[in-house]
Amino acid sequence: MSNAEWFERAQRVIPGGVDSPVRSFRSVGGTPYTVVSGKGAYVTDIEGTTYIDYVQSYGASLLGHAHDDVIAAIKRQAELGTTFGAPTPGEVQLAELMVERVPGLEQVRLVSSGTEAVMSAVRVARGATGRDKIVKFDGCYHGHSDALLVAGGSGVAQLGLPGSAGVTAGAVGDTITAPYNEVPTLDETIAAVVVEPVAANMNLVAPRENFLRDLRAECDRVGALLIFDEVITGFRLTPGGAEPFFSVTPDLYCFGKVIGGGLPVGAFGGSRAVMSHLAPLGPVYQAGTLSGNPLATAAGTTVLSRVTPADYDRLTASVQRLAVGMRDAISSSGIYCATPTQGSLLGLYLSRDEFVAPTSIVEATPLCDNGMYRDFFHAMLRRGIALAPGSYEIIFVSLAHSDADIDRTIEAAGEAAQEVFGS
Ligand SMILES: *Cc1c(COP(=O)(O)O)cnc(C)c1O
Repeated sequence: MSNAEWFERAQRVIPGGVDSPVRSFRSVGGTPYTVVSGKGAYVTDIEGTTYIDYVQSYGASLLGHAHDDVIAAIKRQAELGTTFGAPTPGEVQLAELMVERVPGLEQVRLVSSGTEAVMSAVRVARGATGRDKIVKFDGCYHGHSDALLVAGGSGVAQLGLPGSAGVTAGAVGDTITAPYNEVPTLDETIAAVVVEPVAANMNLVAPRENFLRDLRAECDRVGALLIFDEVITGFRLTPGGAEPFFSVTPDLYCFGKVIGGGLPVGAFGGSRAVMSHLAPLGPVYQAGTLSGNPLATAAGTTVLSRVTPADYDRLTASVQRLAVGMRDAISSSGIYCATPTQGSLLGLYLSRDEFVAPTSIVEATPLCDNGMYRDFFHAMLRRGIALAPGSYEIIFVSLAHSDADIDRTIEAAGEAAQEVFGS
């Protein structure tokens, strides 16, 4: 069956044919490729076409797809059982690895998604402070829980939705939004400020020099907790995530993506004092039947115990080379292109007019919505390079991407830009 036939079939039984909206190709047009397998840097679709994959499950894959050690760990655990509803060694091992690497992290609780992680971190912050209000930044995405689905980036931005239907005014009544990169003036009603240390759901928007440090100081001034949503930056930006990168320590951390090694996991954590507000120690309730799932912790533990600081250096070097190479290759077609990076994170902006790299969603939106990405995306796909099907996403490079893959991608970017933008 072809991609078109599978997507037809999917649309009959799954709304829009997808289980997460950004996969639908709505914002780039056309029909999604249905993936049947992946190995390392590559994915192969139902028609047998293989792509160099820069989606990498939106950052969930750090070692690349189907890494041999991860497969072995999952198999080993599957033989032993996949879920028990009792404590398991795997969750302890994953938590230990996380706590070891992230300087200010003393305790974590595992959940099953990034959405759950942030939702639960907010609840702990409210429980710990006895305050109701939270602040989030425009264009930051923190999952799809009601209170945080305001001015979100990613799929929400692409669909042009103000937030979402079905989210009541009451549910977002305690959520205050502020422009990214501007430190809001807080007061004693604020339980927490939640931020992506590097905004990676409105394309890539780097924090201004001292933005996070000043935000930390403002939180301290009024006794609000600072929550780093590290679902993307965690264990990807550096071995210890954003905290060592920016030398700013939050009160609560949220993780997802990388820590599951390709299986569904999230986690939130902080100091022992803050986390002691959680049940069964404290009054903040939070739970999950599949939380700390043995298969997922086996995969996540394998990834975290396998990556070395040298791997992060190598990943960052690949990303930097791809960034410069793509920018130069695309620019030679006569358009303007920016490929901002923060360590191993990479964005891509295209424009016919000169511009400076965006510092907020207000600046990112006209660039992401100028229609150029969709043409570039398809021209890349035709050349066997799979970027995310949306201009608000970033480019995810894995440790499996070789120098040759990066070179091929740069070459394809030059050809693709020439084809769709060259005169
Ligand atoms: C992906 C993402 C989430 C949500 O994680 P899910 O596992 O999709 O629920 C939350 N925050 C950030 C920064 C993300 O990128």
